[in-house]
Amino acid sequence: MPLATGRSYLAIPGPSVSPERVLNAMHRTAPNIYEGELVDMTRALIPDLKRVAQTDQHVAIYIANGHGAWEAANANMFSRGDRALLAATGRFGHGWAEGLTRMGVTVDIIDFGKAAPADPERIADALRADTDHAIRAVLVTHVDTASSARNDIPAIRAAIDSTGHPALLAVDAIASLGCDELRMDDWGVDVIVGASQKGLMLPPGLGFIWFSDKALEASQATDLVTPYWDWKPRGTGTEFWQYFGGTAPTHHLYGLREALTMILDEEGLEQVWARHRQLARTVWAAFDAWSGKDSGIALNMADPAARGWSVTAARIPNGGAGALRRWLETEAGVTLGIGLGMALPSEPAYQDFLRVGHMGHVNAHMTLGVLATMEAGMQALGIAHGPGALDAAAGALVGD
Ligand SMILES: *Cc1c(COP(=O)(O)O)cnc(C)c1O
Repeated sequence: MPLATGRSYLAIPGPSVSPERVLNAMHRTAPNIYEGELVDMTRALIPDLKRVAQTDQHVAIYIANGHGAWEAANANMFSRGDRALLAATGRFGHGWAEGLTRMGVTVDIIDFGKAAPADPERIADALRADTDHAIRAVLVTHVDTASSARNDIPAIRAAIDSTGHPALLAVDAIASLGCDELRMDDWGVDVIVGASQKGLMLPPGLGFIWFSDKALEASQATDLVTPYWDWKPRGTGTEFWQYFGGTAPTHHLYGLREALTMILDEEGLEQVWARHRQLARTVWAAFDAWSGKDSGIALNMADPAARGWSVTAARIPNGGAGALRRWLETEAGVTLGIGLGMALPSEPAYQDFLRVGHMGHVNAHMTLGVLATMEAGMQALGIAHGPGALDAAAGALVGD
C-alpha cells in the first residue's frame, strides 16, 4: 500500500529544503531597485554574507547557479592559455575542469579517484615541478557532492605554502557552505565558489564568489573576463547598481536575508556546522550497521575524516540502490539522490549507488525518518542488510 501521501521530503544534495520563512520572505511584489528598503537591506547583507564564509575580504553575487559561479571564478582568475592545477575527487571536480578547459585554460588534473580525498603532498609535488610558476591557481572541491569526499583545505594550503609557489587556492564550497566547517581567511583560501540552493537553503538562482585581496590583485591582469562576470564592481563597488551587473535578484535577496538571519543570528554558524556533523554521523552509523552480514552495502568514503557533512554517497549492490530510491519515492514520500558519476546511467552498476542529502534545513526527525523509511524499503524489497541500523543511528544522534 503506498504511504507517500503527506509532506514529501526531497533528501537530495541540492536543491535542499527551503524553510517556510525563507519562501515567505520571497513572496511579495517586486520592490524598488533604485532606492529604499531593498538597497538598504542589501548593503547590510554583504557583511553577513562574508561571515558565512568567515572572511573580511570580498564577495560578489551573481544571478547564476553553481556552474555560473564556477565560470565567473574562472573568468576572473585566468587568461586564455594559462594553466591551472585541479585536484579531482569526484564528478564535480571534473565538471569544473571541463568548463575551464573550454574557456582556453590548460588544466593539469590530479585524479584521486571516486573514493579518496586529495593528497596534499601530490599537489605540492606538482607545484614544485612547475619551476617557472606557470600554474595560476590550485582548484579543489571542498566536498565533492558526487563521491561525498571532503578535502582537507588547511592541509592543502600548507602544502602549497611549503613549496613557495604563488598559485591562488580556489575552493568549490557549493556543497559545504553553511554545512561543513569552512574558514576562508583562517585557512588562507583565495577564492570560494558557492551557490544558494544547498546549505543556504534558498531556491537555485544565486551564485557567490568570495575572493581575497591577493585574488583581486591577480585578476587585474587576466583577460578572460567579460563585463557581466567581472567580480571587481560586484565585490568592490560602492554603488548598489554595481553589485548585480543589471537588475538585482530582488526576491532571492529577501530569501537570503532570512536564511542568513537563521544561520548567523539565531542558530549560529558553529552550531549549524555541529548539527550537520551530528546528522552525518547518524547517517553513517546506519550504513555501518546495514553493511554487516556481508550485505555488500557500503559507504563510499571509508575514512570518516574524509566524509562531507552534507551528503553521503553509498553503494547498495545488485541494483538495490535504484530499487530502494524508487520505493522510497513512490511508497514513502522520500526522494534520495541518484548515484552521480560512479557509473554511466546506461550501465547496470548505475543502480548500485545512491546519495542521501542532509544539507541545510534538516533536523533529527527528518534524518531519522529517512533512515527508518530506508530500513522499511529494504525489508519490503528483500534487500540484504545488516541489523540494528536504527538503533545505531539513534545512538549516534544522541552521542557526542
Ligand atoms: C551542486 C554543485 C555544483 C553545481 O551547482 P549547480 O547549481 O548545479 O550548477 C558544483 N559543485 C558542487 C560541489 C556542487 O555541490
